[in-house]
Amino acid sequence: MSKYLSQTRANLTPYVPGEQPVDIERYIKLNTNESPFRLSKAALAYAFASLRPLQLYPDPEYGELRRAFAESIGVSADEVMAVNGSDEALYLAFSAFCDEKTPAVFADITYGFYPVFADMCRIPYETIPLTDDLQINPEDYLDAKGTIFIANPNAPTGVLLGVSDIERIIESNPENVVVIDEAYIDFGGETVVPLIRKYDNLLVTRTFSKSRSLAGARLGFAIGCTELIADLNTLRNSINPYNVNNATVAYGLGSLADDDAFRDNCTAIEETRAFTVDGLKTLGFEMPDSYANFVFARTPKMAGGELYHALKERGILVRHFDNERICDYNRISIGTPEQMQTLLDTLKELLG
Ligand code: PMP
Repeated sequence: MSKYLSQTRANLTPYVPGEQPVDIERYIKLNTNESPFRLSKAALAYAFASLRPLQLYPDPEYGELRRAFAESIGVSADEVMAVNGSDEALYLAFSAFCDEKTPAVFADITYGFYPVFADMCRIPYETIPLTDDLQINPEDYLDAKGTIFIANPNAPTGVLLGVSDIERIIESNPENVVVIDEAYIDFGGETVVPLIRKYDNLLVTRTFSKSRSLAGARLGFAIGCTELIADLNTLRNSINPYNVNNATVAYGLGSLADDDAFRDNCTAIEETRAFTVDGLKTLGFEMPDSYANFVFARTPKMAGGELYHALKERGILVRHFDNERICDYNRISIGTPEQMQTLLDTLKELLG
């Protein structure tokens, strides 16, 4: 730390992303929930054809991209905002809808960036424990004392909350914004996006990093009533109006132009998840039902951290979290069927 770092920033504990090894060929990479599929040829062709010249700044309105995305989810363009990965939308939401008097409220076990964003924005937060079987109890969020953030499906557990439960939470919090982080919704969950027309306190975030194979491009969206989106735009335009670069806009348009490939990929992931869960259960693993492109599994035969290291030594990267409540578990992203078969074979060998 330099002597120049502001006192108010000296105690920040940054988010720790999953490992991104340089020598990726050495590993089966099941640690950061990326898609195992590349963008389709048709999507790539569309992207190259629609690339705005890189010597020009992006269109700060992102009109074409917003229209295409809005159409794909059945809302209008002024109900969506394009962001540099959904992390940016979440950060802007913490910054816009929380302050000292309006704390953030989220689960004790959820996306690790939430407490980091709260600290970064210098706002207090309250954590609500998941139940013993790692579920969110909607009752705990009725009449909350601040802005609610729920990842649905939750990360790293993969557990899904139903639309009616989320609607009860939104309905019971008319004075609070409720942010539903749908980073993993495309893998079998039901979206709450249609509710943005009914509730002016609902904000949904989406990413192209998982189901749309664009983790490296950094593209996401915030979806909500026009007033919430206008608030977020005020903040965006106060920090970085050109927040999504031209190449990413083109890749986003390409992905949206080949929706069939996107849907096929989601179906393939769901099928591979089912086969992986069967295999893991046969080996004695326990895990909550996952609606995401990962499973969160533990075995009584080996501690979570030990298993993580043993797999890494054998060329398989998964994600382990030190947090006491979940240190028995590993989060395993769903790759190709071949990758998951190798994982299962390796686990069988390791656990005997
Ligand atoms: N929400 C959750 C629950 C996540 O796991 C992630 C991925 N790390 C994100 C949001 C952010 O995704 P991105 O910034 O790549 O859109």
